[in-house]
Amino acid sequence: PPKRATAKFATAAEALHTVFGYDSFRGEQAQIIDQLIGGGDAVVLMPTGGGKSLCYQIPSLVREGTGIVISPLIALMQDQVDALTLVGVSAAFLNSSQDSAARSQVERDYLAGNLDLLYVAPERLSNEATKRFLDRGTIALFAIDEAHCVSQWGHDFRPDYLALSELADRWPDVPRIALTATATDATHKELTERLQMGQAQHFVASFDRPNIQYRIVGKAEPRKQLLNFIKTEHPTDAGIVYALSRKTVEQTAEFLRANGLNAYPYHAGLDQGLRARTQSRFLREEGVIIVATIAFGMGIDKPDVRFVAHIDLPKSVEGYYQETGRAGRDGLPSTGWLAYGLQDVVQQRRMIDESPGDLAHRRKMSAHLDAMLALCETVHCRRVNLLRYFGQASEPCGNCDTCLVPPEAWDGTVPAQKLLSTIVRLLRERNQRFGAGQLIDILRGKTTPRTTQHHHEQLATWGIGADLTDQQWRGVVRQMLAQGFIATSGEYGTLILTEAAGEVLAGSRPVQLRSEPDRPVKRTPAAR
Ligand code: ADP
Ligand code: ZN
Repeated sequence: PPKRATAKFATAAEALHTVFGYDSFRGEQAQIIDQLIGGGDAVVLMPTGGGKSLCYQIPSLVREGTGIVISPLIALMQDQVDALTLVGVSAAFLNSSQDSAARSQVERDYLAGNLDLLYVAPERLSNEATKRFLDRGTIALFAIDEAHCVSQWGHDFRPDYLALSELADRWPDVPRIALTATATDATHKELTERLQMGQAQHFVASFDRPNIQYRIVGKAEPRKQLLNFIKTEHPTDAGIVYALSRKTVEQTAEFLRANGLNAYPYHAGLDQGLRARTQSRFLREEGVIIVATIAFGMGIDKPDVRFVAHIDLPKSVEGYYQETGRAGRDGLPSTGWLAYGLQDVVQQRRMIDESPGDLAHRRKMSAHLDAMLALCETVHCRRVNLLRYFGQASEPCGNCDTCLVPPEAWDGTVPAQKLLSTIVRLLRERNQRFGAGQLIDILRGKTTPRTTQHHHEQLATWGIGADLTDQQWRGVVRQMLAQGFIATSGEYGTLILTEAAGEVLAGSRPVQLRSEPDRPVKRTPAAR
């Protein structure tokens, strides 16, 4: 066996104190670490900031050999290795960003037994040459980070992860740990199966992040609403704003800057060097706001992010939870703020309809969207809804918008019937289908070039909804879409009835809607 040159520790506690300088383990860290040191496997579900890294770093320092960490976050490997090197841990990575000289050096270090930790991109492990190479050294353990990526039904499936099922066959005696900060019951089961973790001990921490206040507001003028939110509640704080498109990212960053905030855009289309500078500015300077597509934030360990704002609807509850989870890692009060509107629903349904995947793929995306909509439209505690999604029961939290200002439900049956019958008449009498905008104009009796062109003022439902504002009607349409009474069809997002609509039209089914007070919600302090 190769001669070992790295420092090893007799106990986990010694490594914790000497290397990381911490007094005690958190949550179930100690049990997880013991399980691995003893040679067993572990599946760990723990929220962001819970302290997952120590769960494999410490066993790698105690067990003979090198801990192999499989992580999809190539861009962050350098940071992780730098941080470990700083505290005296011998760490390195192998990924496609390296030149061959750097790679050879890492390989020599591994074979000489000089590495405590080696970070490897998942695609490398499907390569036979890599496996043979690993065999020539001593493996302390395998850590599979972001393990939910192996789940085909999850929101973040990565085909390279499927090859990781072979680890168990090829190295039956090497302990393995799979870790994730986001997993529903179904994903938990699937990753256990796919990674052959049948013998593993499972550690499931509470996913609750009590210091994050969850708020979801109706979207009217998203940029102004966002600016107002930041200026009144987080005027000097660091935060992340997520949007779906690069264009929105750039425009929003510019708008915030024009209004005196220190905001920068970040998306995959920007030059690599610029992105790196933006990221390091966010980490090192105070009060920087990053406006980003989801490309930003994974694995970035900034403890004092005070708010995460979404100005477009996230595509899944997992994504929403993961992104908002980047706020408040230090346990201090933080805000997860989301503005969501009718257009989000229409747009995302359309994206699903047009997505190139097969039917199963579209069904999956649709189920993810439905769960996200249910969270947005709930009249109950957001946190209860969120945790239930991850299979965890909880009590109303007192620190989300619906707990702080309980939304009033109102009987929306009559407006619902007005909307549905307008859709029915257009189809039956004119063989026409329209999107929300035109339908609302008809209901409110608002003359536009388009209503005139189609003679819509002659419809029996013209103007019968003048009692509600444009914004209120958009709320009605959005909630009816979310509740499944109507659906969108085709590339223009035209609205059609579903089966459930028949009962509403027949008067046999009432429609409950949530009223949308634009009342401010006071922040309440909450501690971890
Ligand atoms: P995760 O990967 O679960 O998001 P990390 O491993 O990055 O979490 O840990 C989050 C933060 O908590 C880090 O700054 C880490 O150093 C710190 N931490 C982890 N375990 C402990 C501990 N036992 N005592 C004190 N701080 C800890
Ligand atoms: Zn609540």
